[in-house]
Amino acid sequence: MSRLVWFRSDLRVTDNPALHYACDDQADVQAVFILCDQYVESHPIGPRKLWFIRESLKDLAVNLQKSGIELSLLRVAKAGDIPAKLMAFCKEMGIKSLYCNAEYPIDEIERDRKVKASCEGADIAFRRYHDRCLIPPGMLKTGQGSVYRVFTPFSKAWKEKIKSARLEAYLAPETGRGKKAKDATRAIDQCFARCDLRPAPDHWQPGENIAQRKLQEFCDNALLEYDEQRDTPAGPGTSRLSPYLSIGSLSPKQCYLAAAARVKGDWEKHSGVNTWINELIWREFYMHIAQAFPALSRHKPMQAYTDDFPWRYDKTLFQRWCNGETGIPIVDAAMRQLNNTGWMHNRLRMVTAMFLCKNLKIDWRWGERYFMEQLIDADFCANNGGWQWSASTGTDAAPYFRIMNPVSQSERHDPDGQFIRRYVSELAELNNKDVHTGRGAAAYCDPIVDLNRSRQEAIDLFKSLKSNE
Ligand code: FAD
Repeated sequence: MSRLVWFRSDLRVTDNPALHYACDDQADVQAVFILCDQYVESHPIGPRKLWFIRESLKDLAVNLQKSGIELSLLRVAKAGDIPAKLMAFCKEMGIKSLYCNAEYPIDEIERDRKVKASCEGADIAFRRYHDRCLIPPGMLKTGQGSVYRVFTPFSKAWKEKIKSARLEAYLAPETGRGKKAKDATRAIDQCFARCDLRPAPDHWQPGENIAQRKLQEFCDNALLEYDEQRDTPAGPGTSRLSPYLSIGSLSPKQCYLAAAARVKGDWEKHSGVNTWINELIWREFYMHIAQAFPALSRHKPMQAYTDDFPWRYDKTLFQRWCNGETGIPIVDAAMRQLNNTGWMHNRLRMVTAMFLCKNLKIDWRWGERYFMEQLIDADFCANNGGWQWSASTGTDAAPYFRIMNPVSQSERHDPDGQFIRRYVSELAELNNKDVHTGRGAAAYCDPIVDLNRSRQEAIDLFKSLKSNE
Protein backbone atom coordinates (compact mmCIF):
# COMPACT_ATOMS: atom_id res chain seq x y z
CA MET A 1 0.00 0.00 0.00
CA SER A 2 1.70 3.19 -1.16
CA ARG A 3 1.16 6.63 0.26
CA LEU A 4 1.77 9.90 -1.51
CA VAL A 5 2.76 13.19 0.11
CA TRP A 6 1.82 16.15 -2.05
CA PHE A 7 4.17 19.05 -1.24
CA ARG A 8 2.91 22.59 -1.87
CA SER A 9 4.03 25.41 0.44
CA ASP A 10 5.56 23.09 3.03
CA LEU A 11 8.96 22.32 1.47
CA ARG A 12 10.61 20.73 4.49
CA VAL A 13 10.97 17.35 6.17
CA THR A 14 10.96 18.53 9.80
CA ASP A 15 7.74 19.58 11.51
CA ASN A 16 5.71 18.56 8.49
CA PRO A 17 2.51 16.85 9.72
CA ALA A 18 1.50 15.43 6.32
CA LEU A 19 4.91 13.81 5.87
CA HIS A 20 5.05 12.71 9.49
CA TYR A 21 1.71 10.88 9.38
CA ALA A 22 2.40 9.37 5.97
CA CYS A 23 5.57 7.82 7.45
CA ASP A 24 4.04 6.65 10.71
CA ASP A 25 4.58 2.98 9.87
CA GLN A 26 6.62 1.07 7.34
CA ALA A 27 4.33 1.86 4.39
CA ASP A 28 5.99 2.79 1.11
CA VAL A 29 5.93 6.60 0.82
CA GLN A 30 6.40 8.70 -2.28
CA ALA A 31 6.31 12.46 -2.80
CA VAL A 32 5.12 14.79 -5.53
CA PHE A 33 5.21 18.49 -6.39
CA ILE A 34 2.99 20.00 -9.07
CA LEU A 35 3.92 23.14 -10.97
CA CYS A 36 0.86 24.86 -12.44
CA ASP A 37 1.43 27.39 -15.25
CA GLN A 38 -1.90 29.06 -14.60
CA TYR A 39 -0.98 29.75 -10.96
CA VAL A 40 2.42 31.10 -12.00
CA GLU A 41 0.66 33.55 -14.30
CA SER A 42 -2.39 34.49 -12.27
CA HIS A 43 -1.36 34.43 -8.63
CA PRO A 44 1.33 35.45 -9.74
CA ILE A 45 4.53 33.61 -8.74
CA GLY A 46 7.37 35.91 -9.75
CA PRO A 47 10.75 34.81 -11.17
CA ARG A 48 12.61 35.17 -7.87
CA LYS A 49 10.14 33.17 -5.84
CA LEU A 50 9.96 30.57 -8.61
CA TRP A 51 13.75 30.23 -8.52
CA PHE A 52 13.63 29.94 -4.72
CA ILE A 53 11.00 27.20 -4.98
CA ARG A 54 13.03 25.27 -7.55
CA GLU A 55 16.21 25.38 -5.49
CA SER A 56 14.35 24.55 -2.27
CA LEU A 57 12.82 21.53 -4.00
CA LYS A 58 16.33 20.26 -4.73
CA ASP A 59 17.18 20.53 -1.05
CA LEU A 60 13.91 18.84 -0.11
CA ALA A 61 14.51 16.01 -2.59
CA VAL A 62 17.92 15.26 -1.04
CA ASN A 63 16.44 15.20 2.46
CA LEU A 64 13.58 12.95 1.34
CA GLN A 65 16.01 10.65 -0.43
CA LYS A 66 17.74 9.98 2.90
CA SER A 67 14.47 8.45 4.08
CA GLY A 68 13.91 6.45 0.90
CA ILE A 69 11.25 8.83 -0.43
CA GLU A 70 11.43 9.79 -4.08
CA LEU A 71 10.19 13.22 -5.19
CA SER A 72 8.38 13.26 -8.53
CA LEU A 73 7.54 16.41 -10.45
CA LEU A 74 4.40 17.08 -12.46
CA ARG A 75 3.59 20.13 -14.55
CA VAL A 76 0.10 21.18 -15.65
CA ALA A 77 -1.10 24.06 -17.80
CA LYS A 78 -4.30 24.76 -15.87
CA ALA A 79 -5.37 24.38 -12.27
CA GLY A 80 -8.36 22.40 -13.53
CA ASP A 81 -5.94 19.74 -14.85
CA ILE A 82 -4.55 18.98 -11.38
CA PRO A 83 -7.09 16.37 -10.18
CA ALA A 84 -6.86 14.23 -13.34
CA LYS A 85 -3.06 14.46 -13.50
CA LEU A 86 -2.76 13.51 -9.84
CA MET A 87 -5.21 10.62 -10.15
CA ALA A 88 -3.32 9.25 -13.19
CA PHE A 89 -0.08 9.46 -11.19
CA CYS A 90 -1.70 7.71 -8.20
CA LYS A 91 -2.96 4.94 -10.47
CA GLU A 92 0.44 4.44 -12.07
CA MET A 93 2.18 4.33 -8.67
CA GLY A 94 -0.41 2.26 -6.85
CA ILE A 95 -1.17 5.04 -4.34
CA LYS A 96 -3.89 4.35 -1.79
CA SER A 97 -3.70 7.49 0.37
CA LEU A 98 -2.84 11.10 -0.37
CA TYR A 99 -1.35 13.36 2.34
CA CYS A 100 -1.03 17.14 2.23
CA ASN A 101 -1.05 20.29 4.36
CA ALA A 102 -3.80 22.88 3.92
CA GLU A 103 -3.49 26.21 2.10
CA TYR A 104 -6.13 28.90 2.66
CA PRO A 105 -6.64 31.20 -0.35
CA ILE A 106 -9.79 30.34 -2.31
CA ASP A 107 -8.13 28.82 -5.42
CA GLU A 108 -6.21 26.38 -3.26
CA ILE A 109 -9.28 25.47 -1.18
CA GLU A 110 -11.27 24.91 -4.38
CA ARG A 111 -8.42 22.83 -5.90
CA ASP A 112 -8.28 20.63 -2.80
CA ARG A 113 -12.06 20.19 -2.82
CA LYS A 114 -11.86 18.83 -6.38
CA VAL A 115 -8.87 16.61 -5.63
CA LYS A 116 -10.63 15.22 -2.58
CA ALA A 117 -13.70 14.41 -4.70
CA SER A 118 -11.51 12.68 -7.30
CA CYS A 119 -9.81 10.68 -4.54
CA GLU A 120 -13.18 9.52 -3.27
CA GLY A 121 -14.08 8.37 -6.79
CA ALA A 122 -10.79 6.45 -7.05
CA ASP A 123 -10.94 4.91 -3.57
CA ILE A 124 -7.93 6.87 -2.36
CA ALA A 125 -7.95 8.26 1.18
CA PHE A 126 -7.44 12.04 1.27
CA ARG A 127 -5.76 13.29 4.45
CA ARG A 128 -5.14 16.97 5.06
CA TYR A 129 -3.33 18.57 8.02
CA HIS A 130 -2.55 22.09 9.18
CA ASP A 131 0.99 23.43 9.28
CA ARG A 132 0.83 27.00 7.99
CA CYS A 133 -0.55 28.42 11.23
CA LEU A 134 0.03 27.46 14.84
CA ILE A 135 -3.71 27.86 15.32
CA PRO A 136 -5.50 26.86 12.11
CA PRO A 137 -8.08 29.18 10.52
CA GLY A 138 -11.57 28.56 11.88
CA MET A 139 -10.33 27.62 15.35
CA LEU A 140 -10.47 31.08 16.91
CA LYS A 141 -13.88 32.69 17.27
CA THR A 142 -15.20 35.71 19.14
CA GLY A 143 -17.59 35.27 22.08
CA GLN A 144 -20.43 35.60 19.52
CA GLY A 145 -18.97 32.78 17.44
CA SER A 146 -17.81 34.96 14.55
CA VAL A 147 -14.43 35.47 12.93
CA TYR A 148 -12.16 38.13 14.45
CA ARG A 149 -11.95 41.15 12.17
CA VAL A 150 -9.70 43.19 14.43
CA PHE A 151 -6.13 42.25 15.22
CA THR A 152 -5.79 43.10 18.94
CA PRO A 153 -8.59 40.87 20.24
CA PHE A 154 -7.46 38.18 17.78
CA SER A 155 -3.94 38.28 19.17
CA LYS A 156 -5.24 38.15 22.77
CA ALA A 157 -7.34 35.08 21.98
CA TRP A 158 -4.39 33.56 20.09
CA LYS A 159 -2.06 34.01 23.07
CA GLU A 160 -4.61 32.52 25.43
CA LYS A 161 -5.11 29.49 23.19
CA ILE A 162 -1.44 28.88 22.60
CA LYS A 163 -0.84 28.59 26.35
CA SER A 164 -2.96 25.45 26.51
CA ALA A 165 -1.63 23.93 23.25
CA ARG A 166 0.82 21.02 23.41
CA LEU A 167 3.43 22.15 20.96
CA GLU A 168 6.11 19.89 19.68
CA ALA A 169 7.76 19.91 16.29
CA TYR A 170 7.32 16.70 14.28
CA LEU A 171 10.59 14.92 13.63
CA ALA A 172 11.80 14.22 10.11
CA PRO A 173 11.11 10.67 8.95
CA GLU A 174 13.75 8.12 9.93
CA THR A 175 16.71 7.98 7.62
CA GLY A 176 17.39 4.67 5.92
CA ARG A 177 13.71 3.65 5.83
CA GLY A 178 12.09 2.52 2.56
CA LYS A 179 13.71 1.70 -0.77
CA LYS A 180 16.56 3.49 -2.48
CA ALA A 181 15.15 6.69 -4.02
CA LYS A 182 16.39 8.26 -7.27
CA ASP A 183 18.09 11.67 -7.42
CA ALA A 184 15.42 14.20 -8.47
CA THR A 185 17.67 17.12 -9.52
CA ARG A 186 17.26 16.56 -13.26
CA ALA A 187 13.52 16.04 -12.98
CA ILE A 188 13.24 19.32 -11.03
CA ASP A 189 15.26 21.24 -13.63
CA GLN A 190 13.19 19.74 -16.44
CA CYS A 191 9.93 20.58 -14.70
CA PHE A 192 10.95 24.26 -14.40
CA ALA A 193 12.31 24.43 -17.97
CA ARG A 194 11.14 27.52 -19.88
CA CYS A 195 10.05 29.23 -16.66
CA ASP A 196 11.18 32.80 -16.14
CA LEU A 197 13.57 32.35 -13.18
CA ARG A 198 15.75 34.95 -11.51
CA PRO A 199 18.32 33.85 -8.94
CA ALA A 200 18.16 35.99 -5.82
CA PRO A 201 21.24 37.59 -4.27
CA ASP A 202 23.39 35.52 -1.93
CA HIS A 203 21.44 36.39 1.17
CA TRP A 204 18.60 34.08 0.16
CA GLN A 205 20.25 30.70 0.12
CA PRO A 206 17.54 28.08 -0.22
CA GLY A 207 17.16 25.06 2.00
CA GLU A 208 15.74 23.80 5.24
CA ASN A 209 19.03 23.57 7.15
CA ILE A 210 19.93 27.10 6.15
CA ALA A 211 16.52 28.32 7.30
CA GLN A 212 17.05 26.61 10.65
CA ARG A 213 20.48 28.13 10.99
CA LYS A 214 19.18 31.63 10.21
CA LEU A 215 16.38 31.19 12.74
CA GLN A 216 18.89 30.20 15.41
CA GLU A 217 21.24 33.07 14.56
CA PHE A 218 18.36 35.53 14.74
CA CYS A 219 17.20 34.16 18.11
CA ASP A 220 20.76 34.26 19.48
CA ASN A 221 21.76 37.68 18.20
CA ALA A 222 18.80 39.94 17.45
CA LEU A 223 15.56 38.65 18.96
CA LEU A 224 15.92 40.30 22.36
CA GLU A 225 16.38 43.75 20.77
CA TYR A 226 13.78 43.18 18.05
CA ASP A 227 11.33 45.71 19.50
CA GLU A 228 13.99 48.45 19.38
CA GLN A 229 15.63 47.56 16.07
CA ARG A 230 12.83 46.34 13.83
CA ASP A 231 11.93 49.71 12.31
CA THR A 232 15.42 50.61 11.11
CA PRO A 233 15.66 49.58 7.46
CA ALA A 234 19.43 50.09 7.27
CA GLY A 235 20.07 47.57 10.03
CA PRO A 236 19.78 43.81 10.46
CA GLY A 237 17.02 44.15 13.10
CA THR A 238 14.46 41.76 11.60
CA SER A 239 14.78 38.04 10.98
CA ARG A 240 14.50 37.98 7.15
CA LEU A 241 12.90 34.58 7.50
CA SER A 242 9.84 35.51 5.41
CA PRO A 243 11.02 33.75 2.20
CA TYR A 244 11.47 30.51 4.13
CA LEU A 245 8.12 30.83 5.89
CA SER A 246 6.43 31.67 2.60
CA ILE A 247 7.40 28.41 0.86
CA GLY A 248 7.50 26.43 4.08
CA SER A 249 11.21 25.61 4.42
CA LEU A 250 10.47 26.71 7.96
CA SER A 251 7.26 26.32 9.95
CA PRO A 252 5.74 28.98 12.19
CA LYS A 253 5.80 26.42 15.01
CA GLN A 254 9.58 26.07 14.65
CA CYS A 255 9.85 29.88 14.83
CA TYR A 256 7.62 30.11 17.87
CA LEU A 257 9.39 27.29 19.74
CA ALA A 258 12.85 28.71 19.01
CA ALA A 259 11.82 32.20 20.16
CA ALA A 260 10.14 30.90 23.32
CA ALA A 261 13.15 28.68 24.10
CA ARG A 262 15.44 31.73 23.90
CA VAL A 263 13.76 33.07 27.07
CA LYS A 264 12.95 29.70 28.65
CA GLY A 265 9.29 29.89 27.64
CA ASP A 266 8.54 33.17 29.38
CA TRP A 267 8.20 35.15 26.17
CA GLU A 268 5.31 37.43 27.09
CA LYS A 269 7.53 39.13 29.68
CA HIS A 270 10.30 39.91 27.18
CA SER A 271 9.41 42.84 25.01
CA GLY A 272 11.63 41.84 22.07
CA VAL A 273 10.32 38.28 21.92
CA ASN A 274 6.73 39.33 22.55
CA THR A 275 6.90 41.84 19.69
CA TRP A 276 8.35 39.27 17.30
CA ILE A 277 5.75 36.66 18.16
CA ASN A 278 3.16 39.37 17.59
CA GLU A 279 4.40 39.58 13.99
CA LEU A 280 3.94 35.83 13.63
CA ILE A 281 0.39 36.41 14.89
CA TRP A 282 -0.20 39.08 12.21
CA ARG A 283 0.80 36.44 9.68
CA GLU A 284 -1.78 34.04 11.12
CA PHE A 285 -4.43 36.78 11.38
CA TYR A 286 -4.26 37.41 7.63
CA MET A 287 -4.53 33.67 6.91
CA HIS A 288 -7.61 33.39 9.11
CA ILE A 289 -9.12 36.42 7.36
CA ALA A 290 -8.34 35.07 3.87
CA GLN A 291 -10.00 31.78 4.64
CA ALA A 292 -13.08 33.38 6.23
CA PHE A 293 -13.62 35.98 3.47
CA PRO A 294 -13.02 34.31 0.09
CA ALA A 295 -13.92 37.54 -1.76
CA LEU A 296 -10.46 38.81 -0.76
CA SER A 297 -8.96 36.22 -3.09
CA ARG A 298 -11.14 37.70 -5.85
CA HIS A 299 -9.59 41.18 -5.67
CA LYS A 300 -12.36 42.59 -3.49
CA PRO A 301 -11.76 45.08 -0.68
CA MET A 302 -12.82 43.99 2.78
CA GLN A 303 -14.75 47.23 3.23
CA ALA A 304 -17.13 47.32 0.29
CA TYR A 305 -17.64 51.11 0.35
CA THR A 306 -14.01 51.67 -0.60
CA ASP A 307 -14.61 50.05 -3.99
CA ASP A 308 -16.19 53.37 -5.03
CA PHE A 309 -12.96 55.27 -4.37
CA PRO A 310 -11.96 56.98 -7.65
CA TRP A 311 -8.71 55.02 -8.02
CA ARG A 312 -6.47 56.20 -10.82
CA TYR A 313 -5.03 53.98 -13.52
CA ASP A 314 -2.12 56.15 -14.68
CA LYS A 315 0.48 53.80 -16.16
CA THR A 316 3.22 56.43 -16.33
CA LEU A 317 2.99 57.33 -12.64
CA PHE A 318 2.72 53.67 -11.73
CA GLN A 319 5.86 52.85 -13.72
CA ARG A 320 7.77 55.65 -11.97
CA TRP A 321 6.77 54.11 -8.61
CA CYS A 322 7.79 50.61 -9.78
CA ASN A 323 11.16 51.86 -11.00
CA GLY A 324 11.93 53.87 -7.86
CA GLU A 325 11.84 57.18 -9.75
CA THR A 326 9.28 59.16 -7.77
CA GLY A 327 11.60 61.88 -6.50
CA ILE A 328 10.81 60.88 -2.89
CA PRO A 329 14.11 59.38 -1.67
CA ILE A 330 12.85 56.80 0.85
CA VAL A 331 10.20 55.53 -1.59
CA ASP A 332 12.78 55.23 -4.37
CA ALA A 333 15.33 53.52 -2.12
CA ALA A 334 12.71 51.01 -0.98
CA MET A 335 11.48 50.24 -4.49
CA ARG A 336 15.05 49.79 -5.68
CA GLN A 337 15.71 47.46 -2.74
CA LEU A 338 12.71 45.43 -3.88
CA ASN A 339 13.77 45.41 -7.53
CA ASN A 340 17.40 44.55 -6.75
CA THR A 341 16.98 42.01 -3.97
CA GLY A 342 13.38 40.69 -4.08
CA TRP A 343 12.74 41.82 -0.52
CA MET A 344 11.70 45.02 1.23
CA HIS A 345 11.72 46.03 4.88
CA ASN A 346 8.28 45.97 6.54
CA ARG A 347 8.11 49.68 7.41
CA LEU A 348 8.99 50.55 3.85
CA ARG A 349 6.33 48.20 2.50
CA MET A 350 3.84 50.34 4.44
CA VAL A 351 5.42 53.61 3.30
CA THR A 352 5.60 52.69 -0.40
CA ALA A 353 2.13 51.13 -0.40
CA MET A 354 0.54 54.17 1.24
CA PHE A 355 2.40 56.47 -1.13
CA LEU A 356 1.01 54.57 -4.13
CA CYS A 357 -2.59 54.42 -3.00
CA LYS A 358 -2.96 57.61 -0.97
CA ASN A 359 -0.61 60.13 -2.59
CA LEU A 360 -0.77 58.83 -6.16
CA LYS A 361 -4.30 57.36 -5.66
CA ILE A 362 -3.45 54.39 -7.84
CA ASP A 363 -5.54 51.28 -7.28
CA TRP A 364 -3.95 49.21 -4.49
CA ARG A 365 -4.50 46.07 -6.58
CA TRP A 366 -1.83 47.26 -9.05
CA GLY A 367 0.66 47.57 -6.21
CA GLU A 368 -0.43 44.26 -4.70
CA ARG A 369 0.30 42.48 -7.99
CA TYR A 370 3.63 44.21 -8.48
CA PHE A 371 4.75 43.11 -5.00
CA MET A 372 3.62 39.52 -5.73
CA GLU A 373 5.70 39.55 -8.93
CA GLN A 374 8.82 40.92 -7.26
CA LEU A 375 8.90 39.57 -3.71
CA ILE A 376 10.88 36.44 -2.94
CA ASP A 377 8.64 36.05 0.13
CA ALA A 378 5.39 36.70 -1.77
CA ASP A 379 2.48 35.33 0.18
CA PHE A 380 -1.07 36.05 -0.87
CA CYS A 381 -2.53 36.44 2.64
CA ALA A 382 0.22 38.67 4.10
CA ASN A 383 0.49 40.72 0.92
CA ASN A 384 -3.23 41.26 0.48
CA GLY A 385 -3.54 42.04 4.20
CA GLY A 386 -0.65 44.53 4.04
CA TRP A 387 -2.00 46.26 0.95
CA GLN A 388 -5.55 46.49 2.24
CA TRP A 389 -4.21 47.80 5.55
CA SER A 390 -2.21 50.49 3.75
CA ALA A 391 -5.09 51.42 1.43
CA SER A 392 -7.55 51.59 4.37
CA THR A 393 -9.79 49.09 2.59
CA GLY A 394 -9.14 46.10 4.88
CA THR A 395 -10.61 44.56 8.01
CA ASP A 396 -8.33 46.08 10.55
CA ALA A 397 -6.86 48.75 8.32
CA ALA A 398 -5.06 52.00 9.00
CA PRO A 399 -7.80 54.65 9.48
CA TYR A 400 -8.09 56.62 6.22
CA PHE A 401 -6.96 59.88 7.87
CA ARG A 402 -3.68 58.36 9.16
CA ILE A 403 -1.40 58.65 6.16
CA MET A 404 2.33 58.19 6.61
CA ASN A 405 4.42 61.05 5.33
CA PRO A 406 7.38 59.38 3.58
CA VAL A 407 9.78 62.23 4.37
CA SER A 408 9.01 62.19 8.12
CA GLN A 409 9.20 58.38 8.10
CA SER A 410 12.59 58.63 6.46
CA GLU A 411 13.84 61.22 8.99
CA ARG A 412 12.66 59.06 11.87
CA HIS A 413 13.75 55.59 10.73
CA ASP A 414 16.77 56.35 8.53
CA PRO A 415 18.06 59.50 10.29
CA ASP A 416 21.49 59.59 8.68
CA GLY A 417 20.22 58.45 5.29
CA GLN A 418 22.30 55.27 5.35
CA PHE A 419 19.55 53.18 3.75
CA ILE A 420 18.72 55.81 1.13
CA ARG A 421 22.36 56.19 0.11
CA ARG A 422 22.70 52.41 -0.26
CA TYR A 423 20.10 52.28 -3.02
CA VAL A 424 19.91 55.80 -4.48
CA SER A 425 23.44 56.60 -5.56
CA GLU A 426 22.34 60.01 -6.94
CA LEU A 427 21.90 61.16 -3.33
CA ALA A 428 25.13 59.77 -1.89
CA GLU A 429 26.77 63.18 -1.52
CA LEU A 430 23.87 65.02 0.15
CA ASN A 431 23.97 66.03 3.80
CA ASN A 432 21.85 64.20 6.41
CA LYS A 433 19.01 66.72 6.09
CA ASP A 434 18.67 67.02 2.32
CA VAL A 435 19.07 63.29 1.75
CA HIS A 436 15.44 62.88 2.90
CA THR A 437 14.04 65.28 0.30
CA GLY A 438 16.60 64.94 -2.47
CA ARG A 439 16.93 68.76 -2.60
CA GLY A 440 20.16 69.87 -4.21
CA ALA A 441 21.02 66.65 -6.07
CA ALA A 442 21.46 67.59 -9.72
CA ALA A 443 20.97 64.07 -11.07
CA TYR A 444 17.81 63.34 -9.07
CA CYS A 445 14.26 63.89 -10.31
CA ASP A 446 11.69 66.29 -8.81
CA PRO A 447 8.87 64.75 -6.73
CA ILE A 448 6.10 63.43 -8.97
CA VAL A 449 3.44 64.58 -6.53
CA ASP A 450 2.89 67.23 -3.87
CA LEU A 451 2.83 65.22 -0.65
CA ASN A 452 0.69 67.56 1.45
CA ARG A 453 -1.89 68.39 -1.20
CA SER A 454 -2.31 64.79 -2.36
CA ARG A 455 -2.63 63.60 1.24
CA GLN A 456 -5.45 66.08 1.94
CA GLU A 457 -7.22 65.09 -1.30
CA ALA A 458 -7.15 61.42 -0.24
CA ILE A 459 -8.57 62.24 3.19
CA ASP A 460 -11.36 64.36 1.64
CA LEU A 461 -12.26 61.62 -0.85
CA PHE A 462 -12.41 58.95 1.84
CA LYS A 463 -14.40 61.24 4.13
CA SER A 464 -17.06 61.94 1.51
CA LEU A 465 -17.28 58.24 0.56
CA LYS A 466 -17.71 57.29 4.19
CA SER A 467 -20.44 59.84 4.76
CA ASN A 468 -22.41 58.37 1.80
CA GLU A 469 -21.89 54.79 3.02
P1 FAD B 1 10.20 39.77 10.92
O1 FAD B 1 9.98 41.17 11.36
O2 FAD B 1 11.36 39.06 11.41
O3 FAD B 1 8.85 38.97 11.30
C1 FAD B 1 8.84 37.54 11.41
C2 FAD B 1 7.82 36.94 10.47
O4 FAD B 1 6.50 37.36 10.81
C3 FAD B 1 8.01 37.34 9.02
O5 FAD B 1 8.98 36.56 8.40
C4 FAD B 1 6.61 37.13 8.46
O6 FAD B 1 6.38 35.79 8.14
C5 FAD B 1 5.72 37.51 9.63
N1 FAD B 1 5.30 38.91 9.53
C6 FAD B 1 5.98 39.99 9.98
N2 FAD B 1 5.25 41.11 9.78
C7 FAD B 1 4.11 40.74 9.21
C8 FAD B 1 2.94 41.43 8.76
N3 FAD B 1 2.83 42.75 8.89
N4 FAD B 1 1.96 40.73 8.17
C9 FAD B 1 2.06 39.38 8.04
N5 FAD B 1 3.13 38.66 8.46
C10 FAD B 1 4.13 39.34 9.03
N6 FAD B 1 4.96 39.36 4.27
C11 FAD B 1 5.17 38.23 3.57
O7 FAD B 1 5.64 37.24 4.15
N7 FAD B 1 4.84 38.14 2.24
C12 FAD B 1 4.31 39.21 1.54
O8 FAD B 1 4.00 39.08 0.35
C13 FAD B 1 4.12 40.43 2.26
N8 FAD B 1 3.65 41.53 1.63
C14 FAD B 1 3.45 42.69 2.34
C15 FAD B 1 2.92 43.82 1.68
C16 FAD B 1 2.69 45.00 2.38
C17 FAD B 1 2.12 46.20 1.65
C18 FAD B 1 3.01 45.07 3.76
C19 FAD B 1 2.77 46.34 4.52
C20 FAD B 1 3.53 43.97 4.42
C21 FAD B 1 3.75 42.77 3.73
N9 FAD B 1 4.29 41.62 4.37
C22 FAD B 1 4.46 40.47 3.66
C23 FAD B 1 4.56 41.63 5.82
C24 FAD B 1 5.99 42.01 6.25
O9 FAD B 1 6.38 43.17 5.61
C25 FAD B 1 7.00 40.91 5.98
O10 FAD B 1 6.53 39.69 6.47
C26 FAD B 1 8.34 41.22 6.67
O11 FAD B 1 8.87 42.43 6.18
C27 FAD B 1 9.31 40.09 6.45
O12 FAD B 1 10.56 40.38 6.99
P2 FAD B 1 11.17 39.52 8.18
O13 FAD B 1 11.12 38.08 7.83
O14 FAD B 1 12.48 40.10 8.51
O15 FAD B 1 10.10 39.79 9.32
